[in-house]
Amino acid sequence: MSNFSRREFLTRMGVGALVVGGVSAVAACGKSGGGDAPAACTDPGGGSKAQRDALHYVDKSPNAEKHCTNCQLYVAAEGGAPCGKCTLFASTPVSPTGYCDTWTKKA
Ligand code: SF4
Repeated sequence: MSNFSRREFLTRMGVGALVVGGVSAVAACGKSGGGDAPAACTDPGGGSKAQRDALHYVDKSPNAEKHCTNCQLYVAAEGGAPCGKCTLFASTPVSPTGYCDTWTKKA
């Protein structure tokens, strides 16, 4: 059983995101399936997979009003890459259409 609070988890993940693997996150990103299909943003493995799973990350948000591109923690894709990054998951690639339990409205 874990005594991790949500705040503690977010703080640790946010600090880790600034330190770990930003460049490799973009390289690990898959290509979009085209059309309305969300970009398949491949998890690079390691601790990021556990973090994404714990927060129920999906490439396609079940809520049209909430998705990664309007989340405070999203970092937009660069250079035409199909996936952006999430500062919460150590800069792990995430789909612009993605969503997780920690979605926070962009200010
Ligand atoms: Fe990251 Fe979740 Fe926000 Fe997407 S919705 S940017 S995965 S915190």
